[in-house]
Amino acid sequence: AQPLLIVKDMQKYFPVRGGIFGRTQAMVQAVDGVSFEVKKGETLGIVGESGCGKSTTARLLIGLTEKDSGEIIFDGQGVGDSLSLRDLRRGVQMVFQDSYASLNPRLTIEESIAFGARVQGLSDPIGRAHSLMERVGLAPERFAQRYPHEVSGGQRQRINIARALAMSPRLVVLDEAVSALDKSVEAQVLNLLADLREEFGLTYIFISHDLNVVRYISDRILVMYLGEVVEVGPVNSIWEDQAHPYTRSLFSAMPSMDPENRTKTPPLTGDPPNPINPPSGCRFHTRCRFVDTVCKEKAPALRELPGRGGHCAACHLHDPDSGHDKAGREDIW
Ligand code: SF4
Ligand code: MG
Repeated sequence: AQPLLIVKDMQKYFPVRGGIFGRTQAMVQAVDGVSFEVKKGETLGIVGESGCGKSTTARLLIGLTEKDSGEIIFDGQGVGDSLSLRDLRRGVQMVFQDSYASLNPRLTIEESIAFGARVQGLSDPIGRAHSLMERVGLAPERFAQRYPHEVSGGQRQRINIARALAMSPRLVVLDEAVSALDKSVEAQVLNLLADLREEFGLTYIFISHDLNVVRYISDRILVMYLGEVVEVGPVNSIWEDQAHPYTRSLFSAMPSMDPENRTKTPPLTGDPPNPINPPSGCRFHTRCRFVDTVCKEKAPALRELPGRGGHCAACHLHDPDSGHDKAGREDIW
C-alpha cells in the first residue's frame, strides 16, 4: 500500500542575525534534506537532541511553516501542488507539549473541542464534542463547562487530543505531547493515544526526547542530528543494535537501560555544533569516537543495512566502500 506520508529531501533554513550589532545575516540549516515515509496506521517516533530539527519537521508537516524545497506527499497528493496548505492542515493535526498555551483560556472545554467540528461544518458540534470528551476520559457533565485553568495538566492534554480528533485528521503529529506530565499520568495518556489510534484508524508521528516513551508507542524510530536523518528503522532493530554512533550515545544516556545491554559508548557531552555552520562531511564527526579521515571529507548517505527489515543508517562504518578504517575500534563499539 502507498504510504500515507512521503517526505522527500525536505529543506528549511531560517535567517538569523549574527555578528556585532546583529549586522550580518546567517542561515540556520534547521532541516537539511530530510526524507522519510509513514505508513497508514503506524507510529513513527522521531528522536534527537533539542535543536536537531524535530520540531521544525513537525511544523513543516502541519503547514505551520513552509518548506524551502523538497516534497511532502500526503495521501498521494503533493503539498503546494494538488494539495493546498489549508487542506494539509485539515488532514494533519498536532498536539504540542504546552497544553495550556495551546488552548484559548476564554473558551469552555466543550467550546474548545466543538470549534473543530464547527470549522468542518459538521452537524451538532456540541454533541460531537461531548462524545469525544467521553472517549478521552473527561465526563462531559463534569468538564464541559469548565475552563482550561480549572483542570490538571493531564486533563488539558486530553482536551487537546479531543480537539485534534474533532478535525477528523488522518495523521496526528505529537510534539513532546506527554513530556510535561507526571509518569503515572504520562502512562495513561500514552495508553489512550494507542487506543485512539486503533479506534479512529490514525497514523502518528511521535516526537520526544524520551526514548522509553518513543519505544512504547512507536513501530519505527527516526533519529535526527543537526537537521539530518542519521538512522531510521523498526523499533526492535534499533533497540537491539543501534547502527549510528550518535544513536548509540543517545541510548547509552538512558537511565533505565539494562546494564547488560549497555553499549560501551559513553553518553555525549557538550552541545551539538552550531547549525549555522555545521561540520564538514559527516556532521557528527566532531563528537564521534569512530571518526576517520573520510568522515571529515564526505557526508555519508543513508544506506539500508542488509537483513535488518529496512533499518538504515548514515555512517561510513556501514559502507564497505567508504574507505573508513575500522581496524582496532571494535573494542569500543
Ligand atoms: Fe562517526 Fe564517521 Fe560514522 Fe560520522 S561517518 S558517525 S564521524 S564513523
Ligand atoms: Mg522541540
